[in-house]
Amino acid sequence: MLCLTLTGATLEEDFAQYERNKAWIKLVELRIDLLDPAELEKASAFPDRLDLPVILTCRRISDGGRCDLPERQRLGLLKHVASGNFSYVDIEDDVKKSEFENDLHARGIKIIRSFHDCEGMPADIYSRLSRMAAKGDIPKIAVTPKTFMDVIALFRIEQELADVPEKIVIGMGEMGVPTRILYKRTGSFMTFCSDSLSSSGAPGHLTARTMSELYRADQVDKQTHIYGIIGNPVMHTSSPMIHNPGFHAIRFNAIYVPFLVDSVRSFFKLAESMCIYGFSVTIPHKQDVLPYLGRITREVKQIGSCNTVVRIQNMWKGINTDYYGFLAPIQRDVEQGMIHTALVIGAGGAARAVVWALHNHNIKVIIVNRSIEKAKALADETMGSYDVLSNVGLYQGQVDLVVQTTSVGMEPDVDSDPAPGFQFTGHEIVYDLVYKPHETKFLGRAKAAGCRVQYGIDMLLQQGKLQFEAFTGYHYPPKVYIDLSN
Ligand code: NAP
Repeated sequence: MLCLTLTGATLEEDFAQYERNKAWIKLVELRIDLLDPAELEKASAFPDRLDLPVILTCRRISDGGRCDLPERQRLGLLKHVASGNFSYVDIEDDVKKSEFENDLHARGIKIIRSFHDCEGMPADIYSRLSRMAAKGDIPKIAVTPKTFMDVIALFRIEQELADVPEKIVIGMGEMGVPTRILYKRTGSFMTFCSDSLSSSGAPGHLTARTMSELYRADQVDKQTHIYGIIGNPVMHTSSPMIHNPGFHAIRFNAIYVPFLVDSVRSFFKLAESMCIYGFSVTIPHKQDVLPYLGRITREVKQIGSCNTVVRIQNMWKGINTDYYGFLAPIQRDVEQGMIHTALVIGAGGAARAVVWALHNHNIKVIIVNRSIEKAKALADETMGSYDVLSNVGLYQGQVDLVVQTTSVGMEPDVDSDPAPGFQFTGHEIVYDLVYKPHETKFLGRAKAAGCRVQYGIDMLLQQGKLQFEAFTGYHYPPKVYIDLSN
């Protein structure tokens, strides 16, 4: 079940959040600690306005909430508001049992026994949860994983405490996001999300729409194949918007989840224990995964980095779809021999795939980079030429293709241009790998000069579709609407 945490300062704002999200959720959490004091008198009547069950919560500051009342007053307020038609009341695990709880039970209201740790994760998480469950209520732990091993510990709760049927396990913060999306794999029967137009209810909340429409988190079952992307950072990734709608379109019971990973070794442990079928790899792990791969393609060997890992039989195979994703939009020009010489700006990870792809198609490559050593190393491997970025002007009018592979011009740095002095003749094809913004300043200048331009988004989509094929064995379905603004 998806529960929308209402974060309004007034009950009317909360009602508007419910109205906007009710298509995607099964229940709501009324957070009275976030309400203006003047609203509290009317809060007990709030559940009568909704068609869904309501959880009542008054979260303390120490637990990530805003209630700063002395504890006696806070509990008095909770008791007062709980006179309404709530389905659940959240009571912290360290609150002593009292008549209030007997009264709630007598009225058929379930109690969620909660424990929060906004700084980290206690070592005794399994015994703590089991003690909480022994009290006869629904145990809820919301903790903050600090390493990927903590995330693994949260996913292991399903095996360790399989005998606790109704529990809620939440990893807060970015590292905990997979435990929210894959909440059923932690053994949780519900998870929390927020409204897209309001402030988030807790660190790491996704919106109700994202949880429901993009991830279909409620539909995950024991048969669901898990895929994902590992990186650090990773939450900016557009890949879930490519793969999840693709899975849905071919009716493949699978989900693709972002994993913020600090240690590739830890991730491979999770991949084995959760039987993850494949994953994309982004910065900084594209080289780190190599020692774990039983088989690699020629491109991975040449480029020295891998952006896609798939499970084959009992081993992991590494592929580099950036290589083919880059080539796809200019394939016809390459095949027709329209490109003889290319200038590649940058010598980072993406440039390696670009330069090898061009070299393997007999195109002469000149690499210019801010740090000359990296340009030289890549040029030496691929028998190309190299220069320092500040000399880029020397090559104007000399090449058929210009490929911009640096991160300069990428959001939020949209006014920057990696080669402001470089003049286009209008005859070159100009390709920028940056895809946010859609058209960089560099590409805008090329277009204004009359060049044919190639957008980074095309490469992103092509490499994603090739990953999809590697994951599923099917072509990416046509007519899928890919909304990268999500
Ligand atoms: P990377 O390995 O970190 O390489 C970054 C490159 O940018 C290096 O050549 C670096 O030069 C250069 N650079 C960074 N800041 C610079 C500055 N201020 N002035 C001049 N040069 C600078 O990153 P990457 O993985 O290659 O990614 C680069 C870009 O490509 C990113 O924007 C990424 O989003 C994009 N990309 C797009 C796709 C796609 O599908 N469209 C795929 C992969 C990557 P030094 O060597 O001197 O540091």
